Amino acid sequence: MVHFLWRCSNGFMPCKEELFRRRITSEAGCFRCWQATESPLHACWECGFATAVLERANFYSRLASVHFVNFIQFIQVAMESLSVNELMFLIVMLWVNWKERNDVLHGGAIRQSEIIFNEAFNFWSDLIASQTRAVCRSEGSVLLNQRIERHTRWQAPPDHSFKLNCDASVIQNGKGVGVGAVLRAGDGKMIWALGLRVQDHLSPLAAELIALKVGLQEAMLCRPCSLMVETDCLEAVRLVFEPGECLAEVGVLVEEVRSLLLVSPAPRIEFVPREANQVAHSIAKFVAREVGRFKWFEVGPPWLMKVISNDLLVTYNVPGVVRDSSIIRSVNEGGVAACHTRAL
Ligand SMILES: [Zn+2]
Repeated sequence: MVHFLWRCSNGFMPCKEELFRRRITSEAGCFRCWQATESPLHACWECGFATAVLERANFYSRLASVHFVNFIQFIQVAMESLSVNELMFLIVMLWVNWKERNDVLHGGAIRQSEIIFNEAFNFWSDLIASQTRAVCRSEGSVLLNQRIERHTRWQAPPDHSFKLNCDASVIQNGKGVGVGAVLRAGDGKMIWALGLRVQDHLSPLAAELIALKVGLQEAMLCRPCSLMVETDCLEAVRLVFEPGECLAEVGVLVEEVRSLLLVSPAPRIEFVPREANQVAHSIAKFVAREVGRFKWFEVGPPWLMKVISNDLLVTYNVPGVVRDSSIIRSVNEGGVAACHTRAL
């Protein structure tokens, strides 16, 4: 990836512009869109075929309004505007776009942008997971280990804030669909967790949107002053924050999530890798096999508490992330039962 960026930045890419300059080809135009000279920036970012892939990422709009003079300026702005995870994902998408361009040049069929995007997303997820494992194996760099953990593990919200994590699980070819949500405070402890088995044969995207909807509805009952919301479904985040009416099949759900966000203190929904959404994922997976609705206050079953404590073990190792637990007490002073309940 670094080598790819270095080559793009220095013009050492066999794109049409460079080949024309070296008199290897007779024209410099992009062979895919025929709209502009094919520079590295055009092939990976500006070309309509590349844009169709990139705009599926929720952070695309933050860069799309800027006109970049060259690839170096583009990367500089991206480094200033995006988080580490987003920047890594952007670089993977640029690289996948370049690979796609080469495949088409050499006779390959043009593929749908959704397929290319999913390929980039899977590659990026694997990259983060392998990077974390590799660093964990090397005992030398504790600081680097912690920095990577901060991006691949659940992070506690700031003091006096709450974090809602939502996820869905579809098992046995759609025969079991579960959604999970968990609200946690600044010290990482659970305020409540909710699991709900929903209608079978829902699409994974619809299930993810239901998880967000149910989670937001439940979180609003606690009337939090400050709320962060996370999901590991990038497509759901993209649809919710895409301007204009959502005409997708899941449009109604998207509008419901948008409406809830308007009346909630959460400014947006953040996308996080699966590794940072483990608790909600475990709940969704559990209820996909069960029937009914489950809600636990403060304390859940052993399997759930184990996943939560795994998050906390990592969080507490990161300096500056340990939080005061007083916020939990104040929330539960209203007499919320500190035991798990099940309502069928
Ligand atoms: Zn083009």
